[in-house]
Amino acid sequence: MINTPKTSRRQEVDTVIIDGSLTGLIHALMLKSLGHSVVIFEQGHSDRGGHGAGISAGPLVQEFFSKYGLKKGDYAIDAVEIRMLNRDGMGKRRIRKSYTLTSWSVLYHLLRAKFDGFVVPGKFGNDTETEARFEERKKVFDVEDDGKRVRTTYRDLDTLTEHVVSAHLVIAADGPNPFTASAGK
Ligand SMILES: Cc1cc2nc3c(=O)[nH]c(=O)nc-3n(C[C@H](O)[C@H](O)[C@H](O)COP(=O)(O)OP(=O)(O)OC[C@H]3O[C@@H](n4cnc5c(N)ncnc54)[C@H](O)[C@@H]3O)c2cc1C
Repeated sequence: MINTPKTSRRQEVDTVIIDGSLTGLIHALMLKSLGHSVVIFEQGHSDRGGHGAGISAGPLVQEFFSKYGLKKGDYAIDAVEIRMLNRDGMGKRRIRKSYTLTSWSVLYHLLRAKFDGFVVPGKFGNDTETEARFEERKKVFDVEDDGKRVRTTYRDLDTLTEHVVSAHLVIAADGPNPFTASAGK
């Protein structure tokens, strides 16, 4: 059964972001650095596993991170070729081209450290200065624009309670098959 309890959380923010993965965190960091209060709603846990190895960190990624004080060597390595393996570990294909490679997990933890100071012990640091919230296990199921503000309704997957947050801006980056494609009345 769904309850609707009172909550001590602030229910009015500048920006809501639906997506606690890379797109959401990159936008969250940018907006936070511009002085906005930002809350991220992510249906998954904070302490997440990776999406597998090998995301290419091209010039735009490098430019973005350098703005936030991170050098390429902090999150990426240069590779001279890529090898694709079969399930049995045998070489399937080899591409001789230089790539700058990082991983989902490294980018996620760096962005979280910069955004809200989320730290996995022994990993990155905390340099949070302004209001920034990452709300894990919160599944958004409705977004409604009344012409002045946008109301985002989410379910807390642990307490099974529903809450509404009002914002000037909602960024929906909820991955493939997004529910927000059909929401937003
Ligand atoms: C091996 C591998 C290599 C890759 N290489 C590259 C690469 O080189 N370049 C590249 O750009 N990409 C690459 N990718 C893809 C990469 O994982 C994605 O680009 C990246 O994760 C996209 O981030 P995203 O935030 O847009 O979406 P996602 O990672 O799909 O995140 C969407 C998030 O929204 C959350 N969500 C969805 N619905 C709701 C809801 N209703 N309420 C709350 N939360 C919700 C989901 O739980 C999820 O965490 C690679 C992937 C793999 C596996």
